[in-house]
Amino acid sequence: MTTENRLLPWQEPQWRHWQQYVACGTIPHALLLTGPSGLGKLAFAHLVSQSLFCMTPAHELPCGQCQTCRLMPHHPDLHLIQPDQQFIRVAAIRDMIHIINLTSRTWRIFLIQPADRLHTAAANALLKTLEEPTLNTLLILLTAAPHALPATIRSRCQTLAFQPVATTQAVNWLQRQRPQVEDWEPVLTLSGHAPLAALSTLESGRVDQIQTLVENLMTLNAGQIQPMQLVNLWAKQPFARLLDDLTIICHDMMRLSAGYKQRLFLLRVVDKLQSLSANIKPVGLLRFIEQLNQLKRQQHVNLNTTMCVEVLISAWPTLISS
Ligand SMILES: [Zn+2]
Repeated sequence: MTTENRLLPWQEPQWRHWQQYVACGTIPHALLLTGPSGLGKLAFAHLVSQSLFCMTPAHELPCGQCQTCRLMPHHPDLHLIQPDQQFIRVAAIRDMIHIINLTSRTWRIFLIQPADRLHTAAANALLKTLEEPTLNTLLILLTAAPHALPATIRSRCQTLAFQPVATTQAVNWLQRQRPQVEDWEPVLTLSGHAPLAALSTLESGRVDQIQTLVENLMTLNAGQIQPMQLVNLWAKQPFARLLDDLTIICHDMMRLSAGYKQRLFLLRVVDKLQSLSANIKPVGLLRFIEQLNQLKRQQHVNLNTTMCVEVLISAWPTLISS
């Protein structure tokens, strides 16, 4: 079995729930998998699909060996419906309905991901399908924002909700994946206790990038770089990530100034963080965090990001008490 088709340890309650449907012969026409991203909802949907396709399941799990298992996740009766740019268009749902209307004795499964990106017309077309279930058809809707879905759609699906994972369980799993990482907790916290998100945070080199920002701010404090040079440097980065990364730095600085050294995201560079925090006024830091939050909220508006970076960098020195 491939890694992504193994049941992730924190998904056992949802898997038991699914098994109850199977055992009682009450497999729903539509499942709604909810929860923040990074919890493996798609892997779970694949496992559910595989368990229906598998010819020789063992111990309530797909065997991973048979002909159909080996086709996963590219089984011809498994269809992934995703946004075309911003939205899932009505044409994609019409294609799905066309396939559903073809006679079949085997399972047809449609994964709609993320379901909150259904365009209004697509949602309406989907609703009709949900109202008239077809034999051997399973729709699996996945979303981190279930309330963005029409209530009429939600009410016609059986919901399996995935929650952020408890620290011990998540850290144990992460340590098995990457034994060389010493301290998973800060990364896990940053990733909203979603273990797969923590894994990709680490692999994307994010921790190193944030450390670079700390070093940038140190050179700014020391007057070794002109504010405009830093503006130019930071304006080249994806703005949303820059805001997130600066927020992480500020939160760590807040923890440090409160004498709370454990669970720092940037534990690795605590010395640098300490010198960066040395003359910072906590009130100023709070105001800076509020400014970051405000910019995050305005991101959907077409902001001039260079100008925003300039505002942030010019606000930074006001945090330092002279
Ligand atoms: Zn199998």
